[in-house]
Parts: sequence; C-alpha cells; structure tokens
Amino acid sequence: MQSDLFDIDGASPTDASQSASLDTFEESSLEGLVFDGNMSKMRVQLTKPVTYSIGNLKVNSLIGTRIKLIFKGAIECISCGAQTNKSFSQGYCYRCFTTKASCDSCIMSPEKCHFDKNTCREPDWGERFCMQSHYVYLANSSGVKVGITRGTQIPVRWIDQGAGQALPIFRTNNRHLSGLVEVVMKQHVADKTNWRTMLKGEPDSLDLNAVRDRLFEETKDELKALTERYGVSSLQPLFHADVVDIHYPVENYLEKISSYNFDKNPVVEGKLEGIKGQYLIFDSGVINLRRFTGYHISIEVLEK
Ligand SMILES: [Zn+2]
Repeated sequence: MQSDLFDIDGASPTDASQSASLDTFEESSLEGLVFDGNMSKMRVQLTKPVTYSIGNLKVNSLIGTRIKLIFKGAIECISCGAQTNKSFSQGYCYRCFTTKASCDSCIMSPEKCHFDKNTCREPDWGERFCMQSHYVYLANSSGVKVGITRGTQIPVRWIDQGAGQALPIFRTNNRHLSGLVEVVMKQHVADKTNWRTMLKGEPDSLDLNAVRDRLFEETKDELKALTERYGVSSLQPLFHADVVDIHYPVENYLEKISSYNFDKNPVVEGKLEGIKGQYLIFDSGVINLRRFTGYHISIEVLEK
C-alpha cells in the first residue's frame, strides 16, 4: 500500500488543544516529578516497539520504574478549555458534548452521518474531517474485528486499540460510506475489541488477507449494491494492501486485570510493566489514560 499513509503524526481533531496546557520536563531528569498538566491522549509512533509520549515525556522510559499518578481534582474541557466537574465523551464539558460535531452519535455510528440533510452540528468540521478518504480495516487485538478510520489516522487508530496486526481492506471517499461498508462487514466479523483480552497478552497471529478474501466473498452482493449506488470511484476494495504488525513496549502482562479509575481514587501507584493501546499496565492494575483526557494529573517517578 502507499507508504504516505504512515507519514502523518497522531494529531486528531479532538487532541488539537493538547499542547497548550502541558507542562512537561526534560527526559534527562527522569526522577521525581516528570509531568504536571492536563492529560492528553498519548501520542504514538509506529516504531518497534511503539513509542508513546505525553508532551515531551517519553512514556516508554518509565517502564520498569515505580511511578505515582495523582489526579489533582480539576478537569478542563479539551475543546473550549472550561473547567468541568465531569468529563463527557473522553474530555468534553457538557456544553461541548451536546454541541460539537465530534461528539455527535454519528461519530460512533458513521452510517448515521446526516451531513447531506444539512443537520451537521458543525458543517465546516464535517467538511474537513468526514468528507475525506476513510479506510475500512481489519485489526487483530483480541481476535479479528472490523473498523473504520480517516486515512490520516492510520496507523494511530490501530495502535490506540492495541491491535497486533491490521490491514486496510477498503478505501472510501467519506466517512459515511466507510460506515455503510462496516455495517455490511460486521454481520460476519466482530466490531469491538475485548480490552481485557487485549491487555492479557499478544493475540494469536491471524491471516488477515484470508479473512479479507472470505469477507469479500460473503458480502459480495451487498458490496455490489453499494458500489452501484455510490460509484466505483467512491468505494474501492483494497486487494493488495500490506498487513501492518505492531509491537508494544510491554515487559510483563497481567493474568488478572483490574482497572484504576481517577473518579473513584485520585492516586494510581505501581511498577509500570508496559504500555498498550492507550493503557498503562502496572503490576497492580491498568489505567486507560484516554478516558481521563483533560484531567489535571501529575506523574512522579518513585524509584529507578
Ligand atoms: Zn467545552
């Protein structure tokens, strides 16, 4: 497949504000306080293993050390910057949650895109983020699943989900069409990741090319109908894309997964065993950092 798909960094419409409020420290002094600021989704780079960072902090360098995260009690909306005492849709205040296009239900269910009815919450945003090339892909994080993503979010989307393998199988002209293809495909394959299974180890390697060929065969009538309706240039099956293998910096997986929640306990402390998806894996449990986007957090290294 085209290598230019991989040249794009992890910026997404929802984390555009992340650099503004971060206050991170030089990597050379990885002891004591190493981060104090509003949590953002970790930025990722497809290296072997994946490189994770928050601001200037390379999170991989904390693996093997005992660290302590403290939620300071303040949450700042990642869109408007207002203080909010509850986070909606991973980092928004209630007002933004109910008015931003990026929080609309069609983002989770792209087949429900209503842009062409002139009811998009923010048509300019929709024009920029939804009316552009999208890909339908297969990923293997806890078994095979189908998903969709903007071209610019490859391979970020796959890494965020903790996939060990991924394969683009369709290119479409916009988000809505990728949603329609996904609806057809998920009659035959899962569309969710089992995050507990994903966090317990590496998935068995799958022949995603063979899964694609099987899916194309099983859905050929529905795909033909979609192609006839929207045109071959809008919906292109990808027969020859390369499977992308993704390796995560994890020293030890846990046998039993318990998850931390800053809303219930503001302190998370343990030895960092690894990072996968947007999760930090401690010897004592896991935390999904993405869920706490906008939370004011400090990170302290307790010992080397
Ligand atoms: Zn807001």
